[in-house]
Amino acid sequence: MLLKDETAFYKVCFNSMQVGILVFDSNKIIVMVNNPVAEIFGYNKNVLLGNNIDILFKSSEMIERFIENSVFEEFKSTKELIGIKKNKKEVFLELSFGKMKYEGEFYYKVLISDISKRKQKEVKISHLNVKLKEEVKLSNNELNRVIDQLKIALTKEKELNNLKTRFIALASHEFKTPLSAILSSTELMAKYCELQDIEKRNEHLEKVKIMISRLTRMLDDLLTLENIEAGNISPKFETFNFKELTNEILQNTKYLLKNNQSLEINNISEENIYYDRNIMNIILTNLLNNAVKYSEENSNIKVEIHTNESTIFFKVNDDGIGIPKNEQNLIFKRFFRAKNAIYYPGTGIGLNIVKGYVDSLNGKISFKSIQNEGTVFKVQLPKINNHEEKGIIN
Ligand code: ADP
Repeated sequence: MLLKDETAFYKVCFNSMQVGILVFDSNKIIVMVNNPVAEIFGYNKNVLLGNNIDILFKSSEMIERFIENSVFEEFKSTKELIGIKKNKKEVFLELSFGKMKYEGEFYYKVLISDISKRKQKEVKISHLNVKLKEEVKLSNNELNRVIDQLKIALTKEKELNNLKTRFIALASHEFKTPLSAILSSTELMAKYCELQDIEKRNEHLEKVKIMISRLTRMLDDLLTLENIEAGNISPKFETFNFKELTNEILQNTKYLLKNNQSLEINNISEENIYYDRNIMNIILTNLLNNAVKYSEENSNIKVEIHTNESTIFFKVNDDGIGIPKNEQNLIFKRFFRAKNAIYYPGTGIGLNIVKGYVDSLNGKISFKSIQNEGTVFKVQLPKINNHEEKGIIN
């Protein structure tokens, strides 16, 4: 088909394109625009012609760069720019640059698409991305928190298992010694019975009793430890005669005394007291047993027990092996045994139990010790009134 008026046809084509076409000279003066450009910017086409392109863009700096050097790599692909509409509103544009020559003059053409809708979507997507990232971060934080908690629980579990293994190893070793001593003493007792040597037989009978009480103490400690682990340390308060209990403890301790070891006791209170008898027994027995165990023959152990209106005081003083200074900070740790104590029987749990009980009764325990000179342990326990029976131990 032959066109009647080719120019009119080109014009129709030019104006009916989907994209805007803007043509300007090297002075940025607009020489040609099609209908879509007018629609995008809200201007009348005629107003634009002869005007500077600066009125259409927030910044014409990119276009000036194109005029200066249109072969730049950057202009081979589409660019984004913010346009300014007649009503001063901004519009997101996508531009595609081109250059042509007409009658010896250079002209520049830009294909313009309104990408506002696409931009809005992109902004929305980037907001969603930020939100998503935050949510992922949050759930990661939550996950890390749970992982940390699990790690702590696992470490505790491992520690507990370690403690149990250590205790079993220690206890089985500690059980063997008194058991074999009991065995040999009973064999000797049988022999001395035959020989009718009553004195020697009684000597071994005493030894057996001592070993049995050592085993009993270890079992008691083990049970107490189990109870503490299981959180079963609620005290059972009752009224009892203080002197009766302390006499009982001192009696049992006397029986463990070494050759010429003496026990000096001061200020035993005669009063009736309202407390957990068993806990008090464990605290005092442990301190006294240690004083006896860690001091030598011919030594003196001093015990002070007294009360005032609000407090019960124990003080156990020995002149035994003492606790090395550099190990004193570990003394209440479970299974801790000082280097100078390894030749004495023990499991390293007694003081840990004592400290646990004293703390839970809101009491105080302290000690002073000099290696090879002696040790003094002091305990203060607040007296309990009958009506305070409940809620003392957490
Ligand atoms: P055990 O006596 O069974 O080892 P304890 O928990 O009663 O355990 O004591 C922990 C450690 O504290 C002991 O092994 C010992 O090193 C030290 N100790 C406690 N009491 C005394 C004391 N009176 N004299 C010297 N050392 C002591």
